[in-house]
Amino acid sequence: MKNITVIGAGTMGNGIAHVFAMFGHKVNLVDISEDALNRALVTIGKNLDRMVAKEKISQEDKTATLANINKFTRLEDGITQADLVVEAATENEDLKLRIFKQMDELAPDNAILATNTSSISITKMAAVTSRPDKVIGMHFMNPVPVMKLVEVIRGYATSDATTKAIMEMSKGLKKIPVEVNDYPGFVANRILMPMINEAITTLFEGVAGVEEIDTVMKLGMAHPMGPLQLADFIGLDVCLSILRVLNDGFGNPKYAPCPLLVNMVMAGKLGRKSGEGFYSYSHGTKDWIVSNSFKK
Ligand code: NAD
Repeated sequence: MKNITVIGAGTMGNGIAHVFAMFGHKVNLVDISEDALNRALVTIGKNLDRMVAKEKISQEDKTATLANINKFTRLEDGITQADLVVEAATENEDLKLRIFKQMDELAPDNAILATNTSSISITKMAAVTSRPDKVIGMHFMNPVPVMKLVEVIRGYATSDATTKAIMEMSKGLKKIPVEVNDYPGFVANRILMPMINEAITTLFEGVAGVEEIDTVMKLGMAHPMGPLQLADFIGLDVCLSILRVLNDGFGNPKYAPCPLLVNMVMAGKLGRKSGEGFYSYSHGTKDWIVSNSFKK
């Protein structure tokens, strides 16, 4: 699979384009926003510079990687030669169903259609196409150039051949793929989100403060980041929407989002991206302090 189309040039799309291009694939990066495409190429350039500085790649590798990426604002211009399409647009079910219909209409008949969704059903997306056997989840982790895992998610109708091709392709990108089935939250978020939700409930019930909860999990469980800090990094709106998928999908109240999380999202406290969540983030730096709302 030489020609890859990546749809969405945001946080994940630029990382996915970076990795495919670095391993010699021709990448067509598609986004409805010209700004997002330009920002993505700047980000990819900076991330490649960091890899050159660390002597992980050469200057020539950087030039070759950037030369492998072309940008498009119209899907019909960037998809007609694709062997594999990786959809990494905004996490919204209606949008993704619309994009999957278009991908199916415009991509060559033998192309595999993959999605980087964190939580939306692969089976549902496959059902709007004429090739459900060729639809699969390819769930990269953030930041894509650094994180080794790819959660490879088989929908109800995904074929063995499609799964094998994506497992092999992931290994070719020097990633470690893990095959899982398509149920709400797959594996990563089914386990991670209830832990984050429980950490928020522990705070909500006044059992301990933000730093205390995160310190217990960092030092006690050897997690590199506490669950509240991780929630801030993922985005509290994203955490809430994944918990709602789990809650709806399983119909089990154990996944009900903590009221504090719901309130914080309504108040626009989305974590790092909005400048404040459980911690406050001074603009443009990685520094953080416990947010005023949570000081005793
Ligand atoms: P993002 O908001 O940073 O980027 C989404 C991009 O999609 C935007 O640039 C937007 O302009 C573009 N877009 C919207 N509609 C489009 C369309 N019709 N055609 C083409 N582009 C379109 O989002 P993100 O964080 O990169 O997330 C993308 C996907 O990856 C989501 O499904 C998300 O659940 C998943 N994901 C995110 C993370 C993470 O940590 N951010 C981790 C794993 C998976």
